[in-house]
Amino acid sequence: MTCPACESSKQRPHTGVYRFQCLECCARLVASTYPSKRHAAAMLAAIERFPQSPGRAEVLACVDQLLTKRRSVPPKCTTDS
Ligand SMILES: [Zn+2]
Repeated sequence: MTCPACESSKQRPHTGVYRFQCLECCARLVASTYPSKRHAAAMLAAIERFPQSPGRAEVLACVDQLLTKRRSVPPKCTTDS
């Protein structure tokens, strides 16, 4: 299940359209800031302020998948506990 913003991003990756209710959109948004952790944190903060947004942990998990897919290398063990 994809939202319209995710759908249009497939045609134009830099369309800049994101829906904060959509987990994939949030993940795309955060992933687009990588490797800047400061920007990623700012995006996560913006997402958290949005009432219907998915949870931070969920978004981060999805970001991880996105970045892993993008690089197609095995994920590093960088989970801070
Ligand atoms: Zn979406």
